[in-house]
Amino acid sequence: MGIITENVRELLRIIPPDVRIVAAAKSRTPGEVAEAIDAGIPIIGENYLQDSREVISLLGGRADWHFIGHVQKNKVKHIVPLFDMIETVDSFELAALIQNQAERHGKIMPVLIEVNSGSESQKTGVLPGEVPGLVRRISALDHIQVRGLMTMGPFWDGPEGLRPCFRLTRELFDALKQEDIPGVDMQYLSMGMSDSFEIALEEGANLIRIGTRIFGQRS
Ligand SMILES: *Cc1c(COP(=O)(O)O)cnc(C)c1O
Repeated sequence: MGIITENVRELLRIIPPDVRIVAAAKSRTPGEVAEAIDAGIPIIGENYLQDSREVISLLGGRADWHFIGHVQKNKVKHIVPLFDMIETVDSFELAALIQNQAERHGKIMPVLIEVNSGSESQKTGVLPGEVPGLVRRISALDHIQVRGLMTMGPFWDGPEGLRPCFRLTRELFDALKQEDIPGVDMQYLSMGMSDSFEIALEEGANLIRIGTRIFGQRS
């Protein structure tokens, strides 16, 4: 059994059954991604459009594909038809571009709102206080559907330092779910990576994005 298969089986053994793993596949080969899918990973996360084209053309039907990188506005027209979800929507302007492309493709594009849960300057994501307003505005767009929230959190604080950021994102998620906005389906809370997913799970994540712990260190 290959190491990727072993890693996936171990992860599937320790996570609760209602949690789904997104394998973060940046810089991995199609062969490595295929092994992760065969071992039971249902969703592949891609950061770059360029890298994802080949692997999706080879393996497309065998998993769901989530865009988890920063979305460049000029790439939206290619990302929308290729992906099953965009996890990193952080402005109304971007949402409006996605709406236009999704309409052209006769598709309703599921998205997550990326929360800048550490309120860091120069960081992608929406400031926590602006998330509810953005979700309400996007809910009026009929070819894009908000399905939940995603956050990265500051990376220099160490895993335990992320806990307050995960908790804050969970509180926003719960409040929006409670609000029950028409056209919004608050289903997914995407938080936690290889070093931090245990803490994210304790704080309510139901999508975790795992790279290193599946594929090994990036070379
Ligand atoms: C690379 C990446 C991950 C996974 O990181 P690991 O530490 O390798 O598990 C998760 N989310 C995003 C957005 C990433 O770019």
